[in-house]
Amino acid sequence: MRRICAISIDLDPIPCYYRIHGLGTAPDELRALIMRRCVPRFAEILARHGIPATFFVVGEDIDLELLGTEARASRALLGELVAAGHELANHTYGHPYELSRLPADQMKAEIGRAHELIGEVAGGAVTGFRAPGYDVSAAVLDELAALGYKYDSSVFPAPAYYAAKAAIMGAMALLRRPSRAVLTSPRTLTAAADPYRPAPDAPWRSGQATLVELPIAVTPRARTPVIGTSLLLAPSWLRARLLRAMAGRRFFNLELHGIDLADAEEDGIPGELVDRQPDLRLPLRHKQRALEATLDRLRLDYAFETLDHVASRVQRDEL
Ligand SMILES: [Zn+2]
Repeated sequence: MRRICAISIDLDPIPCYYRIHGLGTAPDELRALIMRRCVPRFAEILARHGIPATFFVVGEDIDLELLGTEARASRALLGELVAAGHELANHTYGHPYELSRLPADQMKAEIGRAHELIGEVAGGAVTGFRAPGYDVSAAVLDELAALGYKYDSSVFPAPAYYAAKAAIMGAMALLRRPSRAVLTSPRTLTAAADPYRPAPDAPWRSGQATLVELPIAVTPRARTPVIGTSLLLAPSWLRARLLRAMAGRRFFNLELHGIDLADAEEDGIPGELVDRQPDLRLPLRHKQRALEATLDRLRLDYAFETLDHVASRVQRDEL
């Protein structure tokens, strides 16, 4: 039987990257850039490869009261994705990097508001969630279960990611430019890296919850993250090696970000952000080719499913 791969794309808008790099407020005209420029690029490649994917949406972007016409345009775009067979999932309302540290009512509002807004566009209940900055907690899982969610996909069991994040945050503290990212509990590093039912009081441990956890891909043993940014930046030999290593897992949860298909020049991304995001220095053409090569390679060994489908399999003990 072929192994299963799920492609997901987190649609963090540009202001998130300004916040995480301590750059302050992003210029207004960049607000919808990921939606307008990057989403159609993903849709085109996925359509050509016949791959259904999961898009994690930030609720604010489709809030008509907040963004008016811009939100309407984003809803139309996301509606096309749904019509093409893609899944829309919840990435909170305002993408707070400190979600699990918020007071309970604010945390619930972040999840609940996005749940309603995305549901309006998805034309059915949203069943999946990913926390900003991979920062999930027992209280977050409780809230998801109360809303009837099938899965969470926030656990990122990668020491390399943890170390890189710690290093960046430490450097930024030295520069007195505090990052808004929150360091996830190191306990997630011992988390299971294959799909599991979490323990109700400890999302990173396996237990009896109905809601399932679908961790983000890391290689067996070394636990090197295999996410869009690493695959698209890697030279082809390294990309091939990372993909080969993933054959050791029964499920490949490949996470990309909308910004992975941004072009700094063509899309008018300011130098201050390009300086801090090395992937933005690569031309779009290069990243598109790397993504296509990745999908062509994966097609040989994997069947592609949305995370919602994968979660159903896990609930039926098929995966
Ligand atoms: Zn995000």
